Parts: sequence; C-alpha cells; structure tokens
Amino acid sequence: MAKRYAFVHNEVCVACGACENVCPRAAVKVWRGCMARVDEGLCVGCGICARECPAGAIDIRNRVEERFDSHCSPERAASGACPMCSQLASSPYKDKMF
Ligand code: SF4
Ligand code: SF4
Repeated sequence: MAKRYAFVHNEVCVACGACENVCPRAAVKVWRGCMARVDEGLCVGCGICARECPAGAIDIRNRVEERFDSHCSPERAASGACPMCSQLASSPYKDKMF
C-alpha cells in the first residue's frame, strides 16, 4: 500500500467531481452526489486530485502519521509499553508527531 493517500474534508467538498475526473487510479468518487470519497486501497497519494480541487478540500496525508497520531507519546515510547510508540520513536516522523 502507498505511503500517502488523499483525505477529503467532507465539510469543504462541493461535490464538483473534478477529483474523480483526474484521478489516474479511479480511487476517488463523488458519493451519491454529496461528497468525494477516497478508496484508500486504490489511492497512491499522487496529489493530482488535491491540485485540481477548486475547494481545497483534499489533503495528501501520510499513512504512518495517521496511524500514530491518535495516542503516541514519548513517555509511552520510553516505557516500551506500546509497540507503535516504540516504532515511532525510531521513525523519520518522530519530530512531527511527538
Ligand atoms: S491522490 Fe492520486 S490516486 Fe489518490 S485519489 Fe488523488 S488523484 Fe487519485
Ligand atoms: S474536486 Fe474537491 S470539491 Fe470537487 S468533488 Fe473532489 S474533493 Fe469535492
């Protein structure tokens, strides 16, 4: 799976379909005319949709950051209690997340 993926801010999306039209992977679709939805399994995080979106509704996010940002802390990493925190402590994203 790619390291990055497109994240749609639903509250900003105006369902114009521009992202769907340009995605080379058919990974984003406008769902029931309401908002864009991304299939994270197909998305490779190329950013083409984000550049095309007239509403600025799409961020390209890093899957590693997303996995870790909900609970990790330096304390948990130091204690060794959490394998995810320990992984983050040695990752290139450490400075961004701790
Ligand atoms: S980041 Fe690329 S692959 Fe993912 S939805 Fe956007 S255009 Fe498609
Ligand atoms: S291009 Fe932007 S505003 Fe248009 S459907 Fe896609 S995410 Fe929504």
